[in-house]
Amino acid sequence: MSERCLFCAIAAGKVPAHIVYEDDRTVAFLDIHPSAPGHTLITPRTHAARIEDLSAEDAAALFTALHRLTKPIREAVGAEAATVGINDGPGSGQEVPHVHIHVIPRRRGDGGGIIQAITRKGSAGASLPDVADRIRKRIT
Ligand code: 5GP
Ligand code: ZN
Repeated sequence: MSERCLFCAIAAGKVPAHIVYEDDRTVAFLDIHPSAPGHTLITPRTHAARIEDLSAEDAAALFTALHRLTKPIREAVGAEAATVGINDGPGSGQEVPHVHIHVIPRRRGDGGGIIQAITRKGSAGASLPDVADRIRKRIT
């Protein structure tokens, strides 16, 4: 547990939250400022600021929890769909530096956009083959 980390404190039961699910590696609770009814955050119990800081086990556990929770979250609020995402790093707007998956229930006509609409800069200044090559070379 990281001292002064809000989501570590929620996971440890030291700060109250509307917890909807927990297992030995993950905790899920309602976002205090929901973007839609049922907006849920899924976090690892063990502190990790960014995706790359997660252990492989916690990364797998997070997706397993997501797989288990998405449908119940959606059905609980009568939503037909969900947008799922992670703000990874301060440059993306991440406010709480403890990894969390946002599950935001969605429906047609709710006025929300798609994840790809967050930026529309495309690949200006870099060709797809170059970018693909640079990514491949950095995978360890
Ligand atoms: P981020 O921008 O880091 O991806 O999102 C952080 C989320 O945490 C925000 O959607 C915000 O509403 C939520 N949040 C911030 N403080 C609290 C809190 O004390 N309790 C709960 N349940 N959610 C919080
Ligand atoms: Zn933490």
